[in-house]
Amino acid sequence: MDLAPLLKELPPTIQTAIDKASLKEYGRDWTRYYEPNPSAIVFPKSTDDAQKIIQWARRHKIALVPSGGRTGLSGAAVAKNLEVVVSFEKMNRILSFDEVNQCVTVEPGVITEELQNFAKEKGLYFPVDFASRGSSQIGGNVATNAGGIKVIKYGLIRNWVTSLKVVTGSGDVLELNKSLVKNATGYDLRQLFIGSEGTLGLVTEVTLKLTQAPKPANLFLLGVANLDAVMKVFATFRKACDVTAFELFTEKALGHVLSAFSELNRPFETVAPVYLLVEVETVNDESVQTALSAFESGMNDGLILDGVVSQNETQSKNFWRFREDITEALSKYTPYKNDISVTIANVPEFMSEIDRVFQIEYPDLEIIWFGHIGDGNLHISILKPFDLEMPEFVKRCQKVDALLYSTIQKFGGSISAEHGVGLSKKPFLHFTRSSAEVQFMRQIKKIFDPDSILNPGKIFDLTPL
Ligand SMILES: Cc1cc2nc3c(=O)[nH]c(=O)nc-3n(C[C@H](O)[C@H](O)[C@H](O)COP(=O)(O)OP(=O)(O)OC[C@H]3O[C@@H](n4cnc5c(N)ncnc54)[C@H](O)[C@@H]3O)c2cc1C
Repeated sequence: MDLAPLLKELPPTIQTAIDKASLKEYGRDWTRYYEPNPSAIVFPKSTDDAQKIIQWARRHKIALVPSGGRTGLSGAAVAKNLEVVVSFEKMNRILSFDEVNQCVTVEPGVITEELQNFAKEKGLYFPVDFASRGSSQIGGNVATNAGGIKVIKYGLIRNWVTSLKVVTGSGDVLELNKSLVKNATGYDLRQLFIGSEGTLGLVTEVTLKLTQAPKPANLFLLGVANLDAVMKVFATFRKACDVTAFELFTEKALGHVLSAFSELNRPFETVAPVYLLVEVETVNDESVQTALSAFESGMNDGLILDGVVSQNETQSKNFWRFREDITEALSKYTPYKNDISVTIANVPEFMSEIDRVFQIEYPDLEIIWFGHIGDGNLHISILKPFDLEMPEFVKRCQKVDALLYSTIQKFGGSISAEHGVGLSKKPFLHFTRSSAEVQFMRQIKKIFDPDSILNPGKIFDLTPL
């Protein structure tokens, strides 16, 4: 289909692009194993523009891929089949702030970190936070129900969205919940759109709650003896303190960060198999003492091999870099990523079982573990050897996925904790969701997107394979 004359039908407020460089850039996300191949990019500037794009796409049966900061890790924002990408980067205004309700209304293209900074200027806090904060957008965060490093205390973005404006795939504009705290009037459709990965509608406005600025905190960086010790340390700290982050990475992960970023130094001499970043609120001397006692008790029990507590903000930032820079340090290996979760209590047993599977299946490949372990969420990256072709590498990893996901199923876990299903996890959805659930999801999609123009082929295929 020649798209050029069709693009001219769009209102002049909507910019378009069809040059090669833009098509490549806007057709991909952070996964690098799909070849981008969109046919055009369109840039709405308002809800009205977004509605016109939907009406146009329905008229011509054109598939659309909503696109935020393209930091997604499941291929959900990838356009590889001549779709038209709908980029929200020109809808990037903070629209209003309601001081009484402590709510902020934004367009979807606002960068996550900009919203965090805005909240800070108001003496408040937006607690959804992760390493891609400088590029990801609020619309993308909502569409993926983003999590991150503060979930243990503050929960997922779902907890913070008080109102959504969406244009559905049928072209209807819905204003969902209108920031009400209490609203017992039937189904809460807002929740359906959160985490729907752009398959039901375009998010064009979001209102989010902000909260009180966080209390002073201490950040511990601990080297622990083994996986079993991890959860024991977690229990010790959680019982005694208000834990705001509990993150894990391995010695291998640390090694990659240290070699990628020469300005960083090993935190202490002891080389431990596993490291933990534990952030706890310490509002007064007593809570500082309690946190230090938890640390000492872990040392005395032989669970903690070594550890340091940050002395200032610069040191804290550097500690966080050991964890947050892992994804970037690994990016040159175009890793195959798994983002899985089980209940916290099941983590050690699950990890040991998976480790055994990997030792048999990946004897020759390097595997890097890290994650939001306090939420039972593990990121497992399999590094691609430079001499292995991408299709062959992905095929091999997907074969092992079937074994990994059977184990997850056995533990009642999830094949995608926070990155979404997109393209990469689509073949494995049935390990976490029953066929009845997937069938209901298909029916829901048909209601909101009758012509299947919105992100088709993501999460599930419309007809069962
Ligand atoms: C270094 C790094 C660290 C990360 N850490 C975390 C983490 O800790 N926790 C976590 O949850 N994620 C993490 N991610 C993944 C990613 O940043 C999140 O999924 C993020 O929410 C995606 O936002 P985005 O704007 O980049 O969305 P995109 O990647 O552009 O899109 C993601 C999905 O949202 C849809 N979408 C985008 N905008 C809209 C819109 N306006 N309307 C409808 N649909 C839309 C897209 O179609 C796609 O389905 C990380 C990624 C990187 C690269």
